[in-house]
Amino acid sequence: MSLNACELEIDLFCRGLRIPDEISLAGVRGISRTRAGLGSGLEVVLPTGSWLKDEVWVNVPVVEKFAAASPYRLAGGQGGGYSIVDERTSSVYPIRLPREPAWYSRHTTREIPMNRIGVLQGTYLGIYLSLVCAFWSYDPPLNCQFCTTGQNVGANEETEKALSDVVETCRAARDESGVTFVHFNGGFQGSRGIEFTLPYVRTIKDDVGLLVGVQLAPERDFRRYDQLIAAGVDHLSFCLEFLDPDCFARICPGKARVHGQQLFLDAIEYAAKRMPRGAVSGEIIAGVEPIEKTLEAIDLITSLGAFPTVCIFRPTVGSDMEDWPPPAYEDMRRVMTHLYDACRRHWIPIGAAPNIEVSIVVNPDDTALLAERTLGFYTYEAFRQAARIAAKPIFARRLRPRSSARRIA
Ligand code: SF4
Repeated sequence: MSLNACELEIDLFCRGLRIPDEISLAGVRGISRTRAGLGSGLEVVLPTGSWLKDEVWVNVPVVEKFAAASPYRLAGGQGGGYSIVDERTSSVYPIRLPREPAWYSRHTTREIPMNRIGVLQGTYLGIYLSLVCAFWSYDPPLNCQFCTTGQNVGANEETEKALSDVVETCRAARDESGVTFVHFNGGFQGSRGIEFTLPYVRTIKDDVGLLVGVQLAPERDFRRYDQLIAAGVDHLSFCLEFLDPDCFARICPGKARVHGQQLFLDAIEYAAKRMPRGAVSGEIIAGVEPIEKTLEAIDLITSLGAFPTVCIFRPTVGSDMEDWPPPAYEDMRRVMTHLYDACRRHWIPIGAAPNIEVSIVVNPDDTALLAERTLGFYTYEAFRQAARIAAKPIFARRLRPRSSARRIA
């Protein structure tokens, strides 16, 4: 039996993909091991054949050990299209592999290759903005066990990204790749993370005109979030990771010691009350803690007015958890079905922003493909469609550089 695009996305996250030696990947987007390392797979676009959305983007694990035993094999290429073959069922899924943009290898005026400043993860631009997350410099380190930021920043990407490097890379990604959203993250930076990030947010909003997201460990003085909002930030996300306290303490020792889970939840609640609905998210990892806890975390985040971004656990090469098994498809399907249902029950307008397809997680709106076709489903889909239409002029305005808007005024 064939899977729909969201089911296939989930199964690819759980099982990975084998790439036979004879398959040419010339010209396709290369594997980029930057930031926490989650984008270290092959970027794949799955057509859905559904009225709900056209495509699903997925960064498929290919270098992790479990991928070598995957039933999925990449086929095709060299002039023809690519496909993924499921050797269990002989199902063949036509796919698209996005091309590597020309700007990746161009240099900024400071002579830094642009792909050492930021990379595409789906259709958005991801930039690790700050210095290496401070949890990596404790002795012994307090880094989250699934993360490889401490190995990637300074090796696969620049340690310090000047404002000019970031602006030039954002402009190139906007003009040549049609990017609408840049996501800045920076792990734990003490009480200086937001202060460091503010000039970047202001300049991108003033001079480039992209939607801007920021993801940092929570800071205790919540008035700093008001500063970010005043600077024009469009999206804030907070990485709670796990709801189970033991799991949180064991796998995120730094966050457990310095922040505690409640601070993440309080920050989500504070930001969600001050930003438009659908602008704040709580990030969690599924496939490590008991599934019931993940479902509870999804309910909690949506009850605070935020949407959950759920990463399917990836035992990333080089991380402390690289030998852990990936999660089971059936469990992850259950989690993603629950995600849709929780967003529906709380009227979160998922998928309203233009052209934001995140390949390293299952996008909340991908999960519509899993939902049962009930009256509640159609009512929520009508609401989402209305939200998209209502939000269009708002996003169009927020995508205009403020400097040009001021000139027009
Ligand atoms: S807070 Fe944890 S996940 Fe985030 S960069 Fe630091 S170690 Fe990695």
